Amino acid sequence: MTVEADTLREALLTGSRRALAKAVTLVESTHPDHRRAADALLEGLPDPSNTLRIGLSGTPGVGKSTFVEAFGMRLCERGTRLAVLAVDPSSARSGGSILGDKTRMERLARHPNAFVRPTPSARALGGVAARTRAVIRMVEAAGFDTVIVETVGVGQSETEVAEMTDLFLLLLAPGGGDELQGIKRGVMECADLVVVNKADGALMAEAQRTAADYLGALRLMRRRRTDPEGFPKALTISAVTGLGLDRLEEEMSALIAWRRESGVFDRLRVLQDQAWLEAELRALIDAKLRDTALSDLRAELEAALRAGTTTPRAAAERIVASLFSTDRGSSA
Ligand code: GDP
Repeated sequence: MTVEADTLREALLTGSRRALAKAVTLVESTHPDHRRAADALLEGLPDPSNTLRIGLSGTPGVGKSTFVEAFGMRLCERGTRLAVLAVDPSSARSGGSILGDKTRMERLARHPNAFVRPTPSARALGGVAARTRAVIRMVEAAGFDTVIVETVGVGQSETEVAEMTDLFLLLLAPGGGDELQGIKRGVMECADLVVVNKADGALMAEAQRTAADYLGALRLMRRRRTDPEGFPKALTISAVTGLGLDRLEEEMSALIAWRRESGVFDRLRVLQDQAWLEAELRALIDAKLRDTALSDLRAELEAALRAGTTTPRAAAERIVASLFSTDRGSSA
């Protein structure tokens, strides 16, 4: 096992795409042996502190794939090695995927400097965020210096993506007026740059108004200790014409340069690892809860609950007690 992991790690570190594909498959597998191999592989990876992890969120239709393709092509043409990963909460729940369409970002996907990973399969329930973190480490080991982690702005996943990246972009479409397009406050609080897309043609003026509205809203928020003066910012771009992409890149570079210099970058990386531990812990406990070994006890307790002879709290405590006692002595 470890010999295999060592061989695979060596191949990964030379930048082999085959090794990368295999490593990612191991992480996404539900087979315990595969997961153990993935862990053994991850243990020996070099320090990734010189990479950049960019989070990107936006509701379906705002232009995420158009933007990633345009922005990604610019980076790749300049020699950046870019990996694009997706966290799609809809795929884990329903088996369908908003982000998983293979025809997305066709040009970028074919570029030799790019690695575009479609949404992980829905087979493995839970732990999508934990697995994505492992995949980030693997693409970095394979020499991808920039990683974009994309998610759909429909719930909890934005916060998770913000917790695994160094910089978070919230992509919006023009319009939405005062309601600010139903973007939840928690998501706004994660954003380092609010980027209003489609600033072209007839939508230009409206895009500028929207960016100004958001800038106003951002100004009302408490200044974060992770930011230099003036951040978070709101700006306009067009993923189609390329307008505003230079400015966006400048702002991203300025923010990251400041964070690196001030030590914030390293502190955020420590927090990312802590959040990863939390995510693994939750995924592991979730998996144990679904384990068939517990199903008899659960059925019994549910019957007791219906009969009124126990309470939900007491039943939960018995399940948790059983959860930990069945594991004693096992190394899994
Ligand atoms: P996603 O669902 O967020 O990935 O959005 P897509 O990238 O698939 O884009 C949704 C629609 O918006 C498509 O019809 C795109 O052509 C269009 N679109 C994306 N970016 C722009 C832009 O900068 N300007 C204009 N006018 N349309 C855009």
